[in-house]
Amino acid sequence: LVSRRKKAEDTIVQVNKDSIGDGKQRLIAGPCSVESYEQTAKVAERLKEHGLTLLRGGAFKPRTSPYDFQGLGLDGLKILKRIADEYQLSVISEIVSPNDIETAEAYVDVIQIGARNMQNFELLKEAGQSRKPILLKRGLAATIEEFMNAAEYIISSGNENIILCERGIRTYERATRNTLDITAVPILKQETHLPVFVDVTHSTGRRDLLQPAAKAAMAVGADGLMAEVHPDPAVALSDQAQQMDLEQFDHFVSILKNFGLHTNKN
Ligand code: PEP
Ligand code: MN
Repeated sequence: LVSRRKKAEDTIVQVNKDSIGDGKQRLIAGPCSVESYEQTAKVAERLKEHGLTLLRGGAFKPRTSPYDFQGLGLDGLKILKRIADEYQLSVISEIVSPNDIETAEAYVDVIQIGARNMQNFELLKEAGQSRKPILLKRGLAATIEEFMNAAEYIISSGNENIILCERGIRTYERATRNTLDITAVPILKQETHLPVFVDVTHSTGRRDLLQPAAKAAMAVGADGLMAEVHPDPAVALSDQAQQMDLEQFDHFVSILKNFGLHTNKN
């Protein structure tokens, strides 16, 4: 069902006023984790200033170590909802348990399924029953075929509103956190009718590579980008090394606007 052979025209995923997959290239930005109302609001304010509409923030964090910050959980989703209402933004957050999918619908506009859960089939089936769009990230070591099959689980359970997100795969290379598989974008665009995003933060893990990676993604036809931004990355509770601060974010957005990034202010 995700195949172009089944449906030739592009699927447009409607997220409030944004028609994702309509040919405009959008940016989803926000902190790795929702840490407090104030921290998230600072980022939301900056998105507004740039005419950006899509805010991300993790509430249920799938951390590699059980001793690391696990996120604010439901309280984090409540903060996102409050910010969405106050700033008129669409909010995106990861859900890790099938039991929380229905709950999340009351708080977020897009439900994210993270790399570590790309083959959590019960979660995928539950997401397939949701009325909310799903942003599905490629697994850490998933082939493109496995990635497409994961999307197939969601669509075959009834939800066609899926955004695919390339976020780098694990290779022997250690210069970057993961290896951005840039050709996955045109391959997924050819093979499926779904919008394809590129997460430049988790794929590179390096602030100095966010811009070139974003330009590459846009050049190969990505429908959008994801990037992390935090008011004070040095004290962030997760992903300190790779989140942009607000000044770096301003620069990132202005460069990409010249490269064709869509905002409500260009
Ligand atoms: C995230 O986007 O917050 C995240 C944890 O990314 P990934 O699942 O791609 O590692
Ligand atoms: Mn992160």
